[in-house]
Amino acid sequence: MTPETALPDSLWAATAAPAPAYARLRSDLACDVAIIGGGYTGLSAALHLARAGRSVIVVEAAEPGWGASGRNGGQVIAGLKANPDDLLAEFGEALGGRMVARMGAAADLVFALVEHYGMDCHARRTGWIQAAHGPKPLRDLIAPRYRQWKARGVAMELLDRQQVAAALGSDPSAYIGGFRDPRGGVLQPLGYARGLAAAAMREGATILHNAPASGMVRDKAGWSVAVGAQAIRAAQVVLATNAYSSAFAPRLWSDLHRTIIPVTSFQMATPPLAGAADHSVIPGGEGVTDSRRLLLYFRRDHTGRLVMGGRSPVEDRPSAADAAPLQAAIARVFPALPAQPAEFVWTGKVAITRDKMPHIHMPAPGLIAFLGCNGRGVAVCTAMGAILAELAAGKPAAELDYPVTAPDHFTLHGFRKLGVFALSQYYQLLDRLEARMGAA
Ligand SMILES: Cc1cc2nc3c(=O)[nH]c(=O)nc-3n(C[C@H](O)[C@H](O)[C@H](O)COP(=O)(O)OP(=O)(O)OC[C@H]3O[C@@H](n4cnc5c(N)ncnc54)[C@H](O)[C@@H]3O)c2cc1C
Repeated sequence: MTPETALPDSLWAATAAPAPAYARLRSDLACDVAIIGGGYTGLSAALHLARAGRSVIVVEAAEPGWGASGRNGGQVIAGLKANPDDLLAEFGEALGGRMVARMGAAADLVFALVEHYGMDCHARRTGWIQAAHGPKPLRDLIAPRYRQWKARGVAMELLDRQQVAAALGSDPSAYIGGFRDPRGGVLQPLGYARGLAAAAMREGATILHNAPASGMVRDKAGWSVAVGAQAIRAAQVVLATNAYSSAFAPRLWSDLHRTIIPVTSFQMATPPLAGAADHSVIPGGEGVTDSRRLLLYFRRDHTGRLVMGGRSPVEDRPSAADAAPLQAAIARVFPALPAQPAEFVWTGKVAITRDKMPHIHMPAPGLIAFLGCNGRGVAVCTAMGAILAELAAGKPAAELDYPVTAPDHFTLHGFRKLGVFALSQYYQLLDRLEARMGAA
């Protein structure tokens, strides 16, 4: 079933700066690079390719930012989920070192683009806090991440139980410690997607909305992307549809869609916090993510609302009643807050890969695909877009700051919903047990 192309009823849709005037496809077109998907990945690739002098057309089924890029938590986080030392161990000193440096600088890129193009997206470099829900995640995840980035010159701050509680305005029983990473921050995610689109257009890219690609074929002259009755001819195609790869066409290229499992994440926003709560809840304005497998992520927005996100079995079109688990999480973390209504509720899809790493593939000559941010993509996808642009502009794959890999498919992909449900139950149990061990 083709999804609705209207934006979801989210806080971000209600408060974003207006979109620029996108183009409509009315006749066949030709360009150097056609990009399918107008999220951060596709828009950043378009921006960087246009800057490099290539002619670029972005084909977006709905409107730029309709997918995860206009629905996420807006937390700008530097680095991949894998820790730097693990990347070096897996990819070696040379490539692993380039991956760490490039992804570590991903948040710098976001804030630099926002400033350079004057994007109206309430970006603030307030830092990112990762908080530990128990002793095991503190020891195995938070402490090594803190140490490894600190050793690379990042001014990371280690926080104990009381310091986390003071930084979040939370109950000391909620988290036993954490760190603050000064590279991160927050922004209005849909505003940022629109800002990237406007910047790409300013550099000469064409962005088509309401333009779902239904297929693509390659002949001697290059690629042809079908959009309705029209076609876009291009020497190269960048596939940037990520978690929404099967939303508008069941399979755009072979079985690439089987390399990811789309998982739903749910968010709610309270009304603007008033009085003492306005000053006590995350007074520094950081983005906050905890260490649970089914993680909670939260922040204040530019209107003073508390935005809380987490895993949910609800897929599309949630109701305010579906926010009950997130309201319970708010009550647990911020027991001093009066009960908060869910003024906005919305969902989005995160693409999970088998190894939990984002992947660049080149499944055919002139076809570049990117899939699988695994829930971390505001900064990472912006940086990936720039890397895809380098690849499309002719940089050899071996010289990139990220590997080009062979697609790694999930077996039993058809049973993914059952698998996600079973794994969620198991993770929830582990998270609870670990949190119980950290109770003050
Ligand atoms: C609820 C939620 C919260 C998140 N919170 C954070 C966070 O706080 N911080 C963080 O770093 N990351 C977060 N993420 C992850 C981040 O949002 C994503 O990694 C990132 O937005 C992915 O960008 P993308 O461009 O690759 O994909 P998307 O933004 O999903 O873009 C893909 C686009 O492809 C289009 N498309 C699909 N099929 C076609 C077709 N056939 N033809 C044309 N167009 C098509 C879709 O319409 C869509 O717009 C979150 C994700 C979700 C879902």
